[in-house]
Amino acid sequence: MADPRREDLSAESDPVEAAAWFLAAQPGAVERTLGVHARREDGRCAGCGQLRQVWWPCVLVNIALRARLLRGRSGPVGFD
Ligand SMILES: [Zn+2]
Repeated sequence: MADPRREDLSAESDPVEAAAWFLAAQPGAVERTLGVHARREDGRCAGCGQLRQVWWPCVLVNIALRARLLRGRSGPVGFD
């Protein structure tokens, strides 16, 4: 069985994991991110396309999906 303290340490050292935890704690942030960073017909990200052309799913979609998993596993992060 995984040691929860070890899991917390990996969240601090992995930027994507840390961003997912941060996003999970912001009410509505996961839904807003997934809404803005939708897949365009050409296969690129609509949200990132305003800044640069990247393929969907972009890194922000992956962070938001990870945040949704974290939130689902432990309830609303930071609000319980
Ligand atoms: Zn994007």
